[in-house]
Amino acid sequence: MAAELNFKQELVGCFGFPVAENPTQAMIEPAFRDMGLDWRYLTLEVKPEDLPAAVAGARAFGFQGFNCTIPHKVAVIEHLDGLGESAELMGAVNCVVNREGKLIGENTDGKGFVSSFQELADPSGKSLVLLGAGGAARAIGVEMALAGVSKITLVNRTESRGRDLETLFRGKLNDRVGGSLEIEYVPWDGAYELPSDADIVVNATSIGLFPDVDAQIPLVVESLRSEMIVADVIPNPPTTRLVRDARNAGCQVIDGLGMLVAQGVIGIEYWTGRTPDASVMRKGLEDVFAAT
Ligand code: NDP
Repeated sequence: MAAELNFKQELVGCFGFPVAENPTQAMIEPAFRDMGLDWRYLTLEVKPEDLPAAVAGARAFGFQGFNCTIPHKVAVIEHLDGLGESAELMGAVNCVVNREGKLIGENTDGKGFVSSFQELADPSGKSLVLLGAGGAARAIGVEMALAGVSKITLVNRTESRGRDLETLFRGKLNDRVGGSLEIEYVPWDGAYELPSDADIVVNATSIGLFPDVDAQIPLVVESLRSEMIVADVIPNPPTTRLVRDARNAGCQVIDGLGMLVAQGVIGIEYWTGRTPDASVMRKGLEDVFAAT
């Protein structure tokens, strides 16, 4: 007897505006093909005023889930049926998962960071210097605290934004980890000298993102020490100035492509229940970034 034919693909995707330059499809679809899954990842331009209709559409089409990017990460929450723990703490969703017909908001940005970090070391008891106070810094700070870091030094140029994140970290996040987290906010004014007790340094600003590839983070490069683990969230180009400086100083380094792939792995696990091959995903991104 002939095998049963099935022409219906499962759908996931990304809602954003603008969205055309978002490369996520280039890492997710190769992973689906490699896994033998007839799934599609659609890059969908959704204007802010169309978000409610787009979420209703995702429900109607039976999407298995979708990523949300700027400007929908916060606005999507009121259209969902529930939130995972870290999305709730961060107040932002980048990955929606259809769990038995309910759309649940998760945040995989910070989880991706933690999973790439854990390939090198255990975050427990370590001191983290976080450069930046936007969405990426928020996600990384929350997940690294949940993973056990003992101290976060927040360094941000705009004081009001830095203080807002400090309030979240000192309040809801510290309560969640049992009050053990030490927090310090440092205004970023001129070249920042890393404290000698820092174990982990993360650039969570947008400095160095293509096309401003030569932009230099205001940091005293000589304060990088070989014992530090240094990470940069910038995925394109993966080898930023900070990544080069940190390698020259003998540090272990995590690049932004590693973090992007790791959060994509978690998204696919949420949607399909299966673990994709991260190297296939990284290759997909390297191919498109090499072409830019
Ligand atoms: P936001 O716009 O929310 O935050 C940007 C941050 O960068 C702010 O803290 C801002 O400081 C700081 N910043 C920007 N320019 C400068 C500068 N010249 N000097 C000092 N500080 C500066 O962006 P996101 O947090 O959403 O994203 C940040 C970066 O993270 C992006 O490049 C994005 O591509 C990357 N990212 C990577 C991911 C990955 O998986 N690899 C996942 C998510 C994001 P201020 O408050 O003073 O303006």
